[in-house]
Amino acid sequence: MNPAPTKWFCILLLCSGAAFAQARPFPGPDLQQIYQRLLPQIEKIPIFDHHAHPGFPDDPDVDAMAAPPGSAALRERDTNPELIAASKALFGYPYNDMSPEHAKWLVEKKAELKKEQGNQYFSNILDKLNIEQGVANRAMMAPYLDPKRFVWVFFSDSFMWPFDNKREQARNGDEEVYIPLQDKMLHRWMVQEHLDRLPADFDSYLAFVTRTLEDNQKKGAIAQKFEVAYFRPTKFGDPTKAEAADVYERFVYGGIPSEQEYRTFQDYIFRYLIREGGRLQLPVHIHSAVGIGDYFNLSEGNIMNLENILRDPRYSSTTFVMLHGGYPYEREAIWLTARKNVYLDSSLMEVWMYPSEFKHALKQWLETFPDKITFGTDAFPYNEVLGAEESYWLGVQSAREALAAALAEMISEGEVNEAQALQLAHGYLHDNAVALYPGKVH
Ligand SMILES: [Zn+2]
Repeated sequence: MNPAPTKWFCILLLCSGAAFAQARPFPGPDLQQIYQRLLPQIEKIPIFDHHAHPGFPDDPDVDAMAAPPGSAALRERDTNPELIAASKALFGYPYNDMSPEHAKWLVEKKAELKKEQGNQYFSNILDKLNIEQGVANRAMMAPYLDPKRFVWVFFSDSFMWPFDNKREQARNGDEEVYIPLQDKMLHRWMVQEHLDRLPADFDSYLAFVTRTLEDNQKKGAIAQKFEVAYFRPTKFGDPTKAEAADVYERFVYGGIPSEQEYRTFQDYIFRYLIREGGRLQLPVHIHSAVGIGDYFNLSEGNIMNLENILRDPRYSSTTFVMLHGGYPYEREAIWLTARKNVYLDSSLMEVWMYPSEFKHALKQWLETFPDKITFGTDAFPYNEVLGAEESYWLGVQSAREALAAALAEMISEGEVNEAQALQLAHGYLHDNAVALYPGKVH
């Protein structure tokens, strides 16, 4: 086994067309010019948005969970002046502040357009931002989203919480908000599958889980999503089926399992769901970054806790998309994509970080496994003023600027030429993600 030929092949490939043979540690004086040249070309690339929650603020189906009260990072606060720029760009907002009476103008403008445009309202937002198609990661799809432009990703977490959840939800204020919504989601899957109550035996429960995945896929879902890091540690053990069945059959109709018993059951179900994701060609999206709410446990939700799963050859046929790129552990996260079936999505990162900082994260990714990174906005209707519309704008604008800046440095430092840089831009904004859903998205 001699790795040298591959290595030399890569170096030759990267340097072909460049005027020099070795990369330099500093950009040249041409950096700004290259950036100015790249940005308009990047703006012309039609985007595939790999992760977002389109919808109106009064729509409870936008997510399978709700935001608990908690601190917001600087750029996420509604005092962010960039939101005024977003409203100007999207709606011609005529004011330079968001005073309550001015904000009222915006709320009324959106209501008027919504009435006028019906199910094209959000498609028109995509048009303004050159987003060709986008994921709608929602509890259920909405009739006001055009299925030609929005593809559904549903939530699979609730299958892990079928028992009495009193202790689970008493853990802290965030879980008090989240866990009842998992109960609600599981109940909706039961209604969908015509179950009055959960089956008494474990095999029938697994059959119910599989049927739900298959039916969701028939309804157009392209992937399943987990936000499990919000509810429990993401280190999953490897129990036997008999161990999980024992917990299920003892607690399905009442009683509270011990924490260890509940985790054993969940570990098995999680692995069952991702294995089914491989069998059904239903990729698995996993929230892998720090989360909202003041109780999100960073060390227990660290993306590296999932390394045993991602590098397990038993799941080679499952495609994993690690949402939000493991942030703030994005430097480690990119190395997980060495596995052929593991990808990153940068949604939320480009909004939590300003472009000047996100540029560094993106550059490190582009220099490591550029074919494994994808773009998403994580657009979400925070409230009536700061809607999914404005968050689409902020995600897209930020990512384009950071991408142009990262690539301009790479060109100026002799790492890639301009044609190669634009190819990387196409990959990140569109091609890498679209290739994961053959025949289903474009
Ligand atoms: Zn999200």
